[in-house]
Amino acid sequence: MASLYRATGIVLSRKDHREADRWYSVLTREFGKVDMLARGGHKMLAKLTPHLEMPAIVDFYVVNGRQFDTIAGTDRLRAFPSVYADASRLLLVQNALHLTDIGTRPNETDPILYELLVQWLETVEQTQAITNERAGFLLGSYALKLLTIIGYRPELSLCLSCKLAIEPGAYRWHALKGGVVCRSCVDHDQEQWFAARALSDEALKLIRFGMSESFASQLRPHLVGAHLSEYHEAVESLMVSHFPVIPANSIRAACSII
Ligand SMILES: [Zn+2]
Repeated sequence: MASLYRATGIVLSRKDHREADRWYSVLTREFGKVDMLARGGHKMLAKLTPHLEMPAIVDFYVVNGRQFDTIAGTDRLRAFPSVYADASRLLLVQNALHLTDIGTRPNETDPILYELLVQWLETVEQTQAITNERAGFLLGSYALKLLTIIGYRPELSLCLSCKLAIEPGAYRWHALKGGVVCRSCVDHDQEQWFAARALSDEALKLIRFGMSESFASQLRPHLVGAHLSEYHEAVESLMVSHFPVIPANSIRAACSII
């Protein structure tokens, strides 16, 4: 028998279903990521969608049926008007929603992840207009925190192999194994570590900063092009290695307003 439940969540993505229906992927506080169907009949979709098309925190009333969860009603709890009014900030929010969608599996409750996304919305809402370069750096920080929450926190201080602290300039980066490996371990077992890449101390500092500091702090560091490129390559290599779905775009491409 169908039952009704209520959940608070943020729409991550949407796709049309048959002629008139639409699926919404919603990150809920209570149940993790849930796919919900909005039925098109009886002008239902037209009534629901204004609350679901722009990034927002929404209360969902959902009929839990045998086959699908169907949206019966919505209340918008919180809107983000500054995000809606600025294309660069809207794009930045949409990029984070997309990464959250492809980086997570359904029905795994994770209040920490939900809070991270709320913090993200609040930070971008309060930020003044930002450059593409800064947007890319911020999104990299979001990706690092997301990776940490889903269980792939990269190791940035101790060698993955011998567990000793790495020395400046004397280590390499291995995304699939998840972090840094010291030079003597690489030299000792070149076959095992052949895929390890060079990474500068400056880029490693940016990765540490992006992972550990708040979103608001990400507005501070001076960004040098070469270090930023390395930072993005390292973050993207982690996403490609560990996300359930591989991102189609690079972070910088995703943040470019043409
Ligand atoms: Zn080592």
